[in-house]
Amino acid sequence: MTIATHPFDALMEITARPPAAFVKGEGSYLWDDAGKRYLDFIQGWAVNCLGHSPPAVAEALAAQAKLLLTPSPAYYNAVSLKLAKALVDHSCFDQVFFANSGAEANEGAIKLARKYGALHKNGAYEIITFEGGFHGRTLATMSASGKKAFEPLFEPKVSGFRKARLNDLASVKRLISDQTVAVMLEPIQGESGVWPATDQFLRQLRALTDTYGLLLIFDEIQTGMGRTGKLFHYEHAAIAPDIMTLGKGIGGGVPLAALLATEKASCFEHGDQGGTFNGNPLMCAAGLVVLERVSQGEFLKSAVDAGLFLESELQKLSARHGLGDVRGRGLLLALDLKLPIGASLVAQAFEAGVLLNSPQPDALRFMPALNVTREEISEMIHCLDVILTKAGAARRVA
Ligand SMILES: *Cc1c(COP(=O)(O)O)cnc(C)c1O
Repeated sequence: MTIATHPFDALMEITARPPAAFVKGEGSYLWDDAGKRYLDFIQGWAVNCLGHSPPAVAEALAAQAKLLLTPSPAYYNAVSLKLAKALVDHSCFDQVFFANSGAEANEGAIKLARKYGALHKNGAYEIITFEGGFHGRTLATMSASGKKAFEPLFEPKVSGFRKARLNDLASVKRLISDQTVAVMLEPIQGESGVWPATDQFLRQLRALTDTYGLLLIFDEIQTGMGRTGKLFHYEHAAIAPDIMTLGKGIGGGVPLAALLATEKASCFEHGDQGGTFNGNPLMCAAGLVVLERVSQGEFLKSAVDAGLFLESELQKLSARHGLGDVRGRGLLLALDLKLPIGASLVAQAFEAGVLLNSPQPDALRFMPALNVTREEISEMIHCLDVILTKAGAARRVA
């Protein structure tokens, strides 16, 4: 017996999806199986930093697939060694553990912090995280997240996470005890609606964690790999965290993530961590191409320019239609709508062939490819302009 009658029904329904199936992507555009084209400002959820199916990534994957898919994580492979070295060279960290998803990388960061506590801090294991934070969908990362909707789910949660408030140092300080081993945060809270930690708060956190001998963990799964205009967001605050996680953009569209640690924090012993596909050459080959491209000064500079253009166009749009502020950095921006019209705008934009995200009822989030063009930004703004003008006219009539 099968309950599946429509092709959509054979997949577990984990979220509401529009009734279209995508078959092709190129740069900033996607096509569905009816041949309709969409301008994509979601890009796999801030994943496709070079756009859809970038030729350089496709070629690296094809070449690596013919050479070696995976030898087993019990052996070194040349590609993961090269990518680890490149990540270390471009960051303040000394060692890397590769993972297959952001949640898995964060799960590793949590384990690494607990290991550090076991070795150096009398078994301290508590990690201070933040209200509104998002770290993934495994049990431990859901527990670390400060997402209200997660609270009643899958009880009992993993214990040992205490929630402070973003940009409120006293709220962090109050939670520090003998049991605390680390503070973990997203430098910009992405899933909860693009809420940035200030650079000053990040510097204060570094000073506080240093004072108490705590590890500072940056979840840069959304903010890393050039998304906010620097290769890694921590560079904006000119501080060095002890641990960082990367995901999303690092694979340019394929499942790759990484856990990075300084020499001091990198304390796993044999048997503590592993995984069948971790560091496989196929995904690392994509990661190498992405890092080579995104770490170039020219590339980052044009991403910064695109971000500034998008920001100013959004501000003008907001002024025309009486909406709220633009927040975020680089190409991770949100527009405050002041009204709970996000879902309606997203649905109308979808009809018009533009893919947008509303992380909260009263906000839109923009996470285009890092090589998005001004023309593409203008096309998206024009689409929103038309929709908002219609909505404004409807409101005036009503
Ligand atoms: C997306 C995201 C995650 C989870 O990554 P997955 O690859 O979906 O497991 C964790 N932290 C942040 C900040 C994210 O944006």
